[in-house]
Amino acid sequence: MKNIEINKYYKIICGAGNENLKEIEALAFVYASAGFNMIDVAAKNEVISAAKKGIELSCNPDKMLLCVSIGVQSDIHLSKAVINRQKCSSCKKCIEVCPQNAVFEEDNKIQIDERACIGCLKCQHNCPSDAIVVEHKYKSPCTMLLSVLSDDIDCVEFHCNSSDIEQILENWKQLKNIYSGRIGFCMDRSKLPDETIISLISQMVDNDENVIVQTDGKPMSGGTDDYKSNIQAVSFAELILSNNIHAKIVLSGGTNSKTSEFAKLCNVDIDGVAIGSFARKLVKDEISSPDFFENIELQNSAIEKARDLYNKINI
Ligand code: SF4
Ligand code: SF4
Repeated sequence: MKNIEINKYYKIICGAGNENLKEIEALAFVYASAGFNMIDVAAKNEVISAAKKGIELSCNPDKMLLCVSIGVQSDIHLSKAVINRQKCSSCKKCIEVCPQNAVFEEDNKIQIDERACIGCLKCQHNCPSDAIVVEHKYKSPCTMLLSVLSDDIDCVEFHCNSSDIEQILENWKQLKNIYSGRIGFCMDRSKLPDETIISLISQMVDNDENVIVQTDGKPMSGGTDDYKSNIQAVSFAELILSNNIHAKIVLSGGTNSKTSEFAKLCNVDIDGVAIGSFARKLVKDEISSPDFFENIELQNSAIEKARDLYNKINI
């Protein structure tokens, strides 16, 4: 675990279900080089190794914290899309819309690379034949955490996007019992009434100012760069702050280059920004090239874009 003082968190989210090792290594390399100080990856040993490899290759190897994401049973971030072949008409719409390039055609069959799928369900929403189902490969949050504890991680993020309060509190208690380091949780306001969600967050924060609360405004929204997609995340942060809950507040879900500016305009005092879809899409052309790690021009181009994003959110 790195012993780094952090004032503001600038986090690149790789996707809690993303097991595309090459992509994760490249994202870690690019965003660590650009100044981001945290990377969020799936709680899998090989994924953690890939992220560490990318961080080591960057020009800021000692500044980036490695956070693993684990979740409750219903957490969409841990879902995988599966094709029902009997219904599939091979229209290829899913190939067009997948942000992860996880869908492809082989042997005249549409296939999904499970390791690259992040469960965003864009394919399902765009399938005209209702041929895509969701599969959840559930392991309890503690089981997931215990499997990576020896990997020298710097932070844990618990995805508790669920309406089952008892389950959330039980899981949270268990996690805090086995992990004493930096820990946070990611919550979606749409799952519960405001009063309930505030009570739940108060119990979880429990006056511990080190707990990080990630306000998941518009989960996996696709990465547009506008003010509007930040509204839910900023409004959720405002709700927490106006209820005098003292925790580190990091915005996520719909976040982009305008997030910090928008929060500032709204007088919402945040402790950081976590960016997923927008940041991944920004450098997708460069990092998906097979020779990315041998091609300095591609690397510089990706780092420049990532640094520009960092400069815009670091205000
Ligand atoms: S969008 Fe649906 S019907 Fe079309 S190829 Fe994909 S799974 Fe098959
Ligand atoms: S669109 Fe989303 S859910 Fe569907 S295969 Fe791609 S990453 Fe997975």
